[in-house]
Amino acid sequence: MRLTPLSTLSLLAAAIGFSLASTAQAARPEAPNLSNTEFQQCLDDLKNSSKFRGVNSSTFDNYRPTQPDPSVIQSLNYQPEFQKDVWDYLSVLVDKERVEDGIRAKRQWADTLRSIESRYGVKAEHVLGVWGVESNFGQTLGKKPLFESLATLSCFDRRQSYFQGEYANALKIVQNGDIAPNDMTGSWAGAFGQTQFMPSTFLELAVDFDGDGRRDLVNNVPDALASTANFLDNRGYRTGEPWGYEVKLPNGFWAASNRKDKKSISHWRNQGLTLANGNSLPSDLSSAGLLLPAGIEGPAFLVGKNFDTFYSYNASENYALAIAHLSDLITSENSSKTDFITAWPTDDPGISRQQAKDIQQALLNAGYDIGGVDGIIGDNTRTAIQQYQSSRGIFPADGRAGQKFHRQIMQGHVQPGSSRPSMPAPADRMGQLIQQQTTITPSNPSYASPSQPATSSNVRYRRVVGIDGVTRLVRVDEGS
Ligand code: CA
Repeated sequence: MRLTPLSTLSLLAAAIGFSLASTAQAARPEAPNLSNTEFQQCLDDLKNSSKFRGVNSSTFDNYRPTQPDPSVIQSLNYQPEFQKDVWDYLSVLVDKERVEDGIRAKRQWADTLRSIESRYGVKAEHVLGVWGVESNFGQTLGKKPLFESLATLSCFDRRQSYFQGEYANALKIVQNGDIAPNDMTGSWAGAFGQTQFMPSTFLELAVDFDGDGRRDLVNNVPDALASTANFLDNRGYRTGEPWGYEVKLPNGFWAASNRKDKKSISHWRNQGLTLANGNSLPSDLSSAGLLLPAGIEGPAFLVGKNFDTFYSYNASENYALAIAHLSDLITSENSSKTDFITAWPTDDPGISRQQAKDIQQALLNAGYDIGGVDGIIGDNTRTAIQQYQSSRGIFPADGRAGQKFHRQIMQGHVQPGSSRPSMPAPADRMGQLIQQQTTITPSNPSYASPSQPATSSNVRYRRVVGIDGVTRLVRVDEGS
């Protein structure tokens, strides 16, 4: 549950290692210097504003932050330099480990899922798919104190009006007694709990399924799963329909990806489409659109209305496809093959979280100081990969953690021909490459930790009183 795919992927980023820059720290803005005096003045103004009318004065004061949190402004302005390829995105979100966790969760919560299915009409595996992608089945909830994050976002930089509403809603949730104040932690943008609802979505759609009088999406799995089903139902879920399926396009077929352009199944049959295994299209979708996440050469899908309800959770087709695919694999209880039938159009597919851990362990063993082994390919790991590649003559030294690099580092040396064949290595590099095949050193003392981004900056804010009477701090560029 997020604002936009780009601005609020932080929790997911923590879960899947969403660092996209090949030059590791290029896209990360500096944390701004935020004035606490201005922050406290802003909070005084907010407390008396119309947006906080439903919040008791004592509630506001009890959870009032003593300091702003500059890191959330840093996250707000983080723009990844490169978009992550769909196969990298999916390989981490739908790996063997997550499918196995999902199968276990299906058995553990079978009775609850059955009653949820009969009340909301949402298939158990679809609820599990969302749960697995959103919070790794409740294991990754986000640790940022929500009131600090939302108060900071309410007072500084872009989108203050939106975050003021969410800040007020978060206070109302605690005031209602649904969630304990200590449990109000989440992503930098305020999504929290096992379903990663924003506070406004919580107030609209969270349900108390176990009947204890509280809607606890942090500690209570039945409440969390039922709230997810209630969300999908509210967004137009069709009981009994699949989300869609992988299909095979006929030879010579051309179309653009257009999920929203829904047609009848007989239309697609007439066009020559079949299921990916060659069987004819079933008749269990009332209408479907064609989804081509990597263009005409990659896996193709026909997707129905239920896919759209997954999409509405996070406004990203790749995200919805991760939920859809994970739910299928949990349904078939098959964790051995997580690929689609048609291969992605790449010669370097993505890696699972276990393979990411393998790479990190191998980097640590080789003397690269990347911190810990967490299966998350972040800036430090990418920088270390780049250093490793450069030192061993691997071309391009792009910091990419794909199947190729996994093979290379697990074998501990560079395979002849593993550098890009279309661009022959210069003679000296080739010599170096051959030498390094036989002389891999166990450590790399020349490696230095990447310098951390500075915590102070030239970013400054100016107080502006809006037409709604609320004072905001608006960023001003240096010199203006
Ligand atoms: Ca409850």
